[in-house]
Amino acid sequence: MPALLRPHLPRLPLARRSDLADDRLDPQSRAAAAYVLARCAVALVAVITLAMSAGSRGADLVPAVAAHVAFAIAALLAVLVVLAADDAARRRWVRALVVTDVLGFAAYNIAFGSVAGAGSLATVSVLLAGPLLWSWRGLAVTAVPVGVVATLWPQRDPLGHTSGAWEVWLLVILLAVPAAAVSALVRRGSMRLAHAEEQFRTAFDDASSGMALLARDGRILRANPAMHALLGTSELPGAWLHQYAVEPAALQASLAGLSPQQRASRFEVEVRGVDARTRVASVVASAICSDGAVRRVLLQAEDVTERRRLQDRLSFEATHDSLTGLANQRVLHDRLGAALADQRPAGILFVDLDRFKLVNDSLGHAAGDRLLMSAAQRLQDCVRPCDLVARLGGDEFVILCDAPDASGDVDAAAVAQRVVLALRPPYVTDDGILSATGSVGVAVAVPGTTVGTLIRDADTAMYAAKSGGGNRAVVFNDGLRADVVRRHALESGLRDALRDDGVTVAYQPVVDEAGRLVAAEALLRWTFQGAPANPAEVIAIAEQSELIADVGLHVLRRALLDSAAWPEDVRLHVNVSAHQLDEGFAAALRDVLRETGSHPERLCLELTETAMRDDVDGLVGKLEQIRALGVRLAIDDFGVGNASLTYLARLPVQDLKIDRSFISGLPHDAGSTAIVSGVVAMARAYGMQIIAEGVETREQDLACVRLGCLQRQGYLHHRPMSAEALLEVLARPGHGDLPQPRAAGEVRAGR
Ligand code: C2E
Ligand code: MG
Ligand code: MG
Repeated sequence: MPALLRPHLPRLPLARRSDLADDRLDPQSRAAAAYVLARCAVALVAVITLAMSAGSRGADLVPAVAAHVAFAIAALLAVLVVLAADDAARRRWVRALVVTDVLGFAAYNIAFGSVAGAGSLATVSVLLAGPLLWSWRGLAVTAVPVGVVATLWPQRDPLGHTSGAWEVWLLVILLAVPAAAVSALVRRGSMRLAHAEEQFRTAFDDASSGMALLARDGRILRANPAMHALLGTSELPGAWLHQYAVEPAALQASLAGLSPQQRASRFEVEVRGVDARTRVASVVASAICSDGAVRRVLLQAEDVTERRRLQDRLSFEATHDSLTGLANQRVLHDRLGAALADQRPAGILFVDLDRFKLVNDSLGHAAGDRLLMSAAQRLQDCVRPCDLVARLGGDEFVILCDAPDASGDVDAAAVAQRVVLALRPPYVTDDGILSATGSVGVAVAVPGTTVGTLIRDADTAMYAAKSGGGNRAVVFNDGLRADVVRRHALESGLRDALRDDGVTVAYQPVVDEAGRLVAAEALLRWTFQGAPANPAEVIAIAEQSELIADVGLHVLRRALLDSAAWPEDVRLHVNVSAHQLDEGFAAALRDVLRETGSHPERLCLELTETAMRDDVDGLVGKLEQIRALGVRLAIDDFGVGNASLTYLARLPVQDLKIDRSFISGLPHDAGSTAIVSGVVAMARAYGMQIIAEGVETREQDLACVRLGCLQRQGYLHHRPMSAEALLEVLARPGHGDLPQPRAAGEVRAGR
């Protein structure tokens, strides 16, 4: 088992300051070893001297001097040993070593006093004793006995002189003073060291951030109270830091990265204390190095649990949908981008709930939200862990079918089928049994696909699924691609046509019960690639490409200019897309009215019911701004949209155009008859004027009049026509309300 993961070791006492130093042989031990070696050399010299002492007296002098020199070297080394010692325990055994040696040497000298003499003995003793015992007292306890011994047993040197006691005492005095001075210096250095150590301890213990001193293997040698609080325990020294990490391997890797070159590292680590609470600590680890290696590690740890929690929450909110908890568009783009960059197989499912708006409108947003949450859960249940479900907003979801690696398989079409089936069963909720099936568009990445094109292709396929009736999945194919290509061509063609004044306007009259032309509706006309384009398709493309504002203003300006030539009592109807109704629309309208010198009362703007999809309060505000200019408002194609009748009462509209689909059923279809008469009654109740759209036969026309719908518009009366042709019609007496199946100047729209 690796040393760092070992569960436990016997506890150590508090680490000392010397723990900061090298683990290997420390300086004082090294000096002690040197002393022992030197002392061996001295012993050797002494033995040699003894052996030679049998020779002549002159020859005896040489080994005696050599012995003196050797004693001096030994003494010097002993002093070095003591000076180098800064640790109480080590100093003690070094002292013991030296004292034992000195006493042994003294005994040896007394026994064989003929060689070294009392002088040498005193020299060595004094030199050692002062620093050794750090005080004058040290001198007393060693030098004085040596002097006494020398006095009682005068020694004879190799030349035959007997060393007197006074010589010894002189030597003691001469050597004792410098030795004591050295001792004082050492003592002061030692106190300074103790002071620094105390400061270090205080800073360490009182630090508000957690501090710990670690051995290289992660063992905690010392920890301050803040570190104990962070780890929820009071028994840290001796334990391994890693046993508190939620991911020990990660912590180990962070610490292993420290080296003499990389002396500090910052990282965050999740720790679980003895109290089982998980906290996040921001750690600065500093390596304490010596001899080119990391010996200890000093940790400073800050409890950043709260900050991390806040950060996590913020980053979750930035990347997730608050209602469903699903990933948001940003995450989707990032993940899909990464999958495409790695050339992993990837598929996109664009999911839109069918008739979700009904739920929202009829039961309120809270019910809609609950439905969305349930649908999101069903989507989650359909996918594998490596897939991603994201919510783009509203009832639109995107599923990324991701493969774990480049050889993986994403059967996006199969997932799409699962999704359709999963969304099919009704939802049993407190609001009742609700139904919102799903339309799913599938697009699979091919080499060169970008994030944008893949999502767009899936969106296109989803629209195909929706137009096929919903509750199904459609895989993006070449046909849909051709549609997209055509849409692009239409879009750029329309842009050019707007610039080159290629977009024209046709007018379809509205007649009253006497057949008099009372209004004319402006309808966009554009010839694209040699054929008339379908206005509804053009408008849809303009809406998708943000061209709608330009298109709308172009038609409005043209129609206002043309209508200047009409009799004053003939109204101008202009269609307005919901996408045009932004904050600036009323101001733009006012400018165009001013610019063309038109009377606002003659203008009626037609809005389809789809404009009421968004928030009604906002819509009412915008419509009131338009009304404030004096412009009339009409609801177009009434009956086919989703607007509830309650909306109607709140909208400031004056006209209601009943959709062609109801008129075409007249007079024989009882349902259509009932609806038309009901709408007429309701419109009367709200004081609105009714216009029947798409009247094609005389029977329908008569039925409309009979049911109270007096203003009619349709091929029976007039087809859309050019501005000039309309002027001709207006010039006829009574505005010539005659059936004109193919009137001269008719301007037909493409289908
Ligand atoms: P809409 O506003 O409901 O216009 C009436 C549509 O019904 C016109 O089609 C018209 O040609 C057609 N129509 C009129 N009478 C009859 C009839 O008796 N039988 C049949 N089968 N059709 C009849 P068009 O011109 O193709 O316009 C289609 C739609 O395009 C318009 O429906 C309107 O929603 C939109 N549109 C046209 N021009 C504009 C415009 O300038 N701006 C906006 N926003 N939408 C426009
Ligand atoms: Mg219209
Ligand atoms: Mg209409």
